[in-house]
Amino acid sequence: MDKELQIKELEKELAESRQEKLAVEEQLSFITAANNKLKEEIYQLKSLIYSSTALITFLKGPEHRIEFANDSIIKVWGKGSDVVGKPLFEVLPEIREQGIQGYLHQVYYQGEPYHARSLPVEHNVNGEMVKSFFDFSYMPQYNSQGKVIGVGVIAQDVTSQTKLHQKVKKSEKEFRELVDFMPHKISIADADGNPVFFNQSWVDYTGLNMEECLEAPWIKLIHPEHSKKFEDEMKESLKSGKDLDLELKIRNRSGDYKWHLHRAIAMKDDGIITSWISSSTEIQKLKEEEQRKQDFLKLVSHELKTPVTSIKGYVQLLQSIIQNDENNITKPYLYRIEGQVERLIRLISEMLDLSRIEKNELELNKENFSLNEHLENIIEDISYIHKDVQIELDHEYEGEVKADKDRIGQVIINFITNALKYSPDNKKVQIKIFKEERNMVGVSVRDFGIGIEQKDLTRIFQRFYRVSSENEKTYAGFGIGLYLSNEIIERHNGKIFVNSEPGEGSEFTFLIPLNHT
Ligand code: ADP
Repeated sequence: MDKELQIKELEKELAESRQEKLAVEEQLSFITAANNKLKEEIYQLKSLIYSSTALITFLKGPEHRIEFANDSIIKVWGKGSDVVGKPLFEVLPEIREQGIQGYLHQVYYQGEPYHARSLPVEHNVNGEMVKSFFDFSYMPQYNSQGKVIGVGVIAQDVTSQTKLHQKVKKSEKEFRELVDFMPHKISIADADGNPVFFNQSWVDYTGLNMEECLEAPWIKLIHPEHSKKFEDEMKESLKSGKDLDLELKIRNRSGDYKWHLHRAIAMKDDGIITSWISSSTEIQKLKEEEQRKQDFLKLVSHELKTPVTSIKGYVQLLQSIIQNDENNITKPYLYRIEGQVERLIRLISEMLDLSRIEKNELELNKENFSLNEHLENIIEDISYIHKDVQIELDHEYEGEVKADKDRIGQVIINFITNALKYSPDNKKVQIKIFKEERNMVGVSVRDFGIGIEQKDLTRIFQRFYRVSSENEKTYAGFGIGLYLSNEIIERHNGKIFVNSEPGEGSEFTFLIPLNHT
């Protein structure tokens, strides 16, 4: 009986120890899995550090012994892979005196991290000193008791970025020096037109320093007569992104205003305006010369007007005397003289008109007349003198206008004579009278001559502007006809414009209001 009891007891103990074994086995497998996971993570972490492009090393103890160094830093050191275990300055003695030892000591002994950007370091690679730039982080590393045991280093080789940055800085410096050296006044403004830079010429001219130039509203330097126009045109350019181009007077350090040609162009990035570059060139001498030229022309025109008008009278007298004498050989020559005298008279009147405009004395005598008939008469007169031309007239619109008949005639004659003058090889001119929306009537004169380049299209309406080319010499003129035409049409509240292609010809058009008020 006792034996049976013993056996039972033993069986019970066996079952219990089996269960305990199972529990231990379970725990063991759990620990093994956790261990494997940890190993896996350490492996991943190590391979991440080893393969990283960042330069990573751990320097142990006061000697900064290389405890660990990843592939990237070993490559940059260029001293082979058996550097681990050696003190840093034994491996790279050349960097000791470049401040590195000081930084490492500071981190190791004071326990404070140190960071540096674009730090230049020269080190010996295969016998050659190579200068590189690094972003550095030196961090103290602690043991479980909180004592510093070494320095962790993470660095990045930023040599190419630093060199690029240095290049950009150098070229910016060169640009500034070049801009300061220039006699032109150069300024830069942001996308909204607020100035951010003025060159030395500005400082010299205004007597203000850079800060004062930037603080003083620009507009204060512009002559009050021109400030409104400048503001309007600048607003328009800022809105449209179109170049700014105007003449205005700017105040100098002595308080005198001098004429300048002011130009601004928009700098764009992907079509978006990022800034504006402006140049102002002094044209005071040019303006004074222009004034002298104008005064001289005014004087000459006054002096010539009377004799030329009387020549015309005598020519007409002679023409009427020989009118019925069919065999008189002087007849064609008299017509030629008349044509030339007409030209001269027109030129003289243009000169006199110039000074009238200057004094704001160009008045309009408006009357009702048929624009169609007026055009027909003008064409008849011109064809009478220019026998070899072919002028076509298209009456798309027929009706009366209220305008200054002579002045409108002057514009039309200017358009037609220019069309003939600037068409040496093709004497065909097409003229059209047409009606525009908004109650405007228009006249366009189309030729097939030399045409005008895009850059000159708006400038030909300026006083004395002539397209500069060899043609300027070939085609006689003073560059005032279109200026006067523009003034006349503006005074009629109309519009004048031109479309042209070099080599294809030009089409000059004016529009005037049709209303009879
Ligand atoms: P001018 O003909 O006396 O020089 P304008 O004021 O009439 O003066 O014209 C200004 C400039 O515009 C001319 O010098 C010429 O270069 C250009 N121009 C005017 N009309 C034409 C045209 N039909 N074809 C080509 N160029 C023209």
